[in-house]
Amino acid sequence: MPRPILATIHSAALQHNLARARQAAPDAKTWAVVKANAYGHGIERAFEGLRSADGFALLDLEEAQRVRALGWRGPILLLEGVFETRDLELCSRLDLWHTVHCDEQIDMLAAHKTNLPHRVFLKLNSGMNRLGFTPERFRSAWARLNALAQVDEISLMTHFSDADGARGIIHQTRVFNEVTRDLPGERTLSNSAATLRHMTDHAATDSDPQDSLVSDWIRPGILLYGSSPDHPQHTSADWGLLPTMTLSSKIIATQAIDTGASVGYGSNFVADKPMTIGVVACGYADGYPRVCPTGTPILVAGQRTRTLGRVSMDMLAVDLTPLLRAGLSVGFGTEVTLWGRASNAAVLSIDEVAYAAGTLGYELMCALARRVPAQVQD
Ligand SMILES: *Cc1c(COP(=O)(O)O)cnc(C)c1O
Repeated sequence: MPRPILATIHSAALQHNLARARQAAPDAKTWAVVKANAYGHGIERAFEGLRSADGFALLDLEEAQRVRALGWRGPILLLEGVFETRDLELCSRLDLWHTVHCDEQIDMLAAHKTNLPHRVFLKLNSGMNRLGFTPERFRSAWARLNALAQVDEISLMTHFSDADGARGIIHQTRVFNEVTRDLPGERTLSNSAATLRHMTDHAATDSDPQDSLVSDWIRPGILLYGSSPDHPQHTSADWGLLPTMTLSSKIIATQAIDTGASVGYGSNFVADKPMTIGVVACGYADGYPRVCPTGTPILVAGQRTRTLGRVSMDMLAVDLTPLLRAGLSVGFGTEVTLWGRASNAAVLSIDEVAYAAGTLGYELMCALARRVPAQVQD
């Protein structure tokens, strides 16, 4: 028998979360962002739940090919555009829309031979200072693209640096609206955090049109996967999101230990009373963060308890003492939910585990290890 660890991808939850995104921006079309192998879920496994999106946005040409291989004929957007000239041939062949964020990409397009002009998304650097043309250079880039026979429609795009934080999005929204004011073309601005946190405020107020976040396409990623973009300020439950990935395993051993006994490498945890611990078949080689300290929440038989001591490569320890005291029969073979949804429908958000590890749900999903088998379920 294989080790009992398993990742379950929930199609119905993906559908539900996509519907939440649409609800937050009812007039916009939705790019389902499936970069990084659908945030670790597996593009092929996530596709069923996300197929009612208006398009798929990603980074790798190889991922774009996989989406086409699934039979998707709708829009696909390369969020970083092309990296070298021959990528444009694949864009022509697979009808991929691509971001243009620098002069070199315009040079490559100008030299590209294609019968079919390309749909491009011209990116403005409105303050994040990662990709895009500065406000001063944006319009000349637009004019240059507009003059190319290789270019069909030009859409306008920017990305927020602080949509999940205190600084918010107004400063960048103003820059975007100012620079693009009289340019034609569809607009796309919002990631998950902007979609959930700001779309409704903006729709509700009749503030300065320069602050308007109304756009043609939203680009949610993390919210589709049931993680809150601004945990712990708002939890995934606050946003009405459902977990789309459950990481589960089983207890493979128990130990009854006395006061003063330690657990795991480095004797990092020392019992202050007699306890029963469970050993779970999941470790950092499965993608569970090694830095999770004693006390990280975990579900055993769908009941909340805590981890104990250091996470090792293939195992971690949990506290069974309170569950046994409550009369539950937990032991060898009992279901453990590292994150996601337990059999009894109890939920442990990936954000809580990420928070204990000092990181984000994004990183945990993306770091799910290859050795963990996965299944798709409703
Ligand atoms: C990753 C990404 C998104 C999605 O971001 P989330 O925070 O996961 O919603 C949107 N736009 C661009 C350009 C991205 O790279």
